[in-house]
Amino acid sequence: MKRICAVLLILVLLAGCAGPGQTGIEMENVAPAGKLEGCSLYVKPVEGLPQDFILGMDASQVPALERSGVKYYDRDGSEQDVFRILAEHGVNMIRVRVWNDPFDAQGRGYGGGNCNLDTALEIGKRAARYGMKLLVDFHYSDFWADPGKQMAPKAWKELDFDSKQQALEDFTRDSLTALRDAGIPVAMVQVGNETNGALCGETDWKYITALMAAGSRAVREVFPEAKVAVHFANPESGAYAAYARNLSIYKLDYDVFGSSYYPYWHGSLENLTAVLKQVREKYGKDVMVLETSYAWTGEDFDFSGNTISEDSAVDKPYPYSLQGQVNSLRDVTQAVLDAGGVGVCYWEGTWIGVGGGSREENQKLWEQYGSGWASSYAGEYDPEDAGKWYGGCAVDNQSFFDPQGRVLESLMAFNLIRWGNETELTVQAVEDSELRITLGEPLELPERVQVILVDNSRREAPVEWDADPDRLTQPGQYTVTGRAEGLEARLLLTVENVNLLENPSFEAGVEDPWQVENLGGCRELMPEQKAGDSLTGEWHYHFWSPDAEKVEFTLEQSPEGLESGTYSFSIHIMGGDCGEAEVYAYAKLDGKTVATAPMEITAWNEWHAGEISGIQYAAGQSLTVGIYVKTDAAGAWGKIDDAALCLEP
Ligand code: CA
Repeated sequence: MKRICAVLLILVLLAGCAGPGQTGIEMENVAPAGKLEGCSLYVKPVEGLPQDFILGMDASQVPALERSGVKYYDRDGSEQDVFRILAEHGVNMIRVRVWNDPFDAQGRGYGGGNCNLDTALEIGKRAARYGMKLLVDFHYSDFWADPGKQMAPKAWKELDFDSKQQALEDFTRDSLTALRDAGIPVAMVQVGNETNGALCGETDWKYITALMAAGSRAVREVFPEAKVAVHFANPESGAYAAYARNLSIYKLDYDVFGSSYYPYWHGSLENLTAVLKQVREKYGKDVMVLETSYAWTGEDFDFSGNTISEDSAVDKPYPYSLQGQVNSLRDVTQAVLDAGGVGVCYWEGTWIGVGGGSREENQKLWEQYGSGWASSYAGEYDPEDAGKWYGGCAVDNQSFFDPQGRVLESLMAFNLIRWGNETELTVQAVEDSELRITLGEPLELPERVQVILVDNSRREAPVEWDADPDRLTQPGQYTVTGRAEGLEARLLLTVENVNLLENPSFEAGVEDPWQVENLGGCRELMPEQKAGDSLTGEWHYHFWSPDAEKVEFTLEQSPEGLESGTYSFSIHIMGGDCGEAEVYAYAKLDGKTVATAPMEITAWNEWHAGEISGIQYAAGQSLTVGIYVKTDAAGAWGKIDDAALCLEP
């Protein structure tokens, strides 16, 4: 009931506010709801969380989803304004991205909610109605800006720098003025999104900070009470100190140094705390997490693959469960508080699938309403990413609503984080175990596994596997299931085939027993030690030739003592500047080529495999396997690594 009263109080305050701009100021001190009751999830309280600590939610996609038919339901099952649900669960700020012009010449939206100023106005009004302030996230682009891309808007592409800077300041001022005139309480404005060394087409810090300064000036002018935020990603990169120093050198006027923190990718919480604390203490800035999220399930619900699934090879500090989602949010909040930070904003916890029964059905809605992450129309602006991979929601398993739009219990954590909800410390899941063996090695399944308690602590427990060992005699990857303490356990088992080549990854640091034949005067042709240029390990085989010296060579090996049978061979290459290269893997029996597999050389760290299978070998024959490389451009270079010759099962 307290909650209802709080909402009514807000409405009264809203009604009592006279002019534009007054609304936000009046509403800043609205008391939060009391402790929510009836939650079955464990929530360890974050002690000493300030009353004004930001617990935000990016909800940018909501209008496009609603136009596609999505509805949201409260805990009692009744249909409800999703912004009201958020407010009642303890969310106190709504974040919204703003793209300049996410539409093509025919007015067709690029997707991702087609988020522009109109969307921010729509969302801002609804958020304000329930007492939540707005965090405006200018990307200064016509579509997604992140560490991988920071493209200038179409309309600014041809502008010289001074004109672009002016356009950015004008755009920021005009957009914020429209929000102010609509009575929307803007509390924070981001001048750029995940600007790791690039913003709006600029990559020189002098220009990046000059653009940020233009945005900052506009914020100060229109919303003098609002905080100016900068936003970076990858706290694990070690680059934050340098970013903050650059902002200081160029004297940027800002308040909040914000970070993305996705536990799968972004290193430890201790590191997050350390890097944010360093910036706060050295430069006297507020710090916060502007984006975080965690998966409550490994499933996908909208026929458009998710960034995180059970198969993702990423850090998994919590199980993909409602309890895992709660613990992640709780621990990120603690980490930010430990850094002296001011808030945490969850990324798009309201973004669910559009609900169709097939990809085709959903695709129509994504195209029509921009309710997927990208529509096909985005291809003209972003051909390399959206143009190829456009589709639906990649985070529908990281939301706080189920596929039908019903609020999940985990959303209560936004409220309970202040109070705690210390239920009994039961076991919630079993940690995946991993085992790697070579074919023929005896399979010894572990007798004990780690179980995960609701507070994310671990302890050992006995396990029963239901594997049939006979079925594990083939090379490959297996998931063995079992049970521990009544819960499902998984063993991720890799059975590697026996590699019959010697020095297959050049880790011996010598050529032997590989045979190289230099057919064209290639200048450098040798094993090389450089982990960053190797597919695995430290070493690979390297070639390079400057102008005029042709690259043509073979690199091969003839293992001895093979038994009769069918064999497969594979080898990998990457490189560049090779022109129209002719590259292939080959197998020879008694000196005669019996099979080849064409290969490509494209770019640094783009490894390509040459794979030959079905090599029929009889004991006593001579088998030679290798790679042939011929290039036709000056400066050709490349790296060869990880060859394997295996008896096929
Ligand atoms: Ca999905």
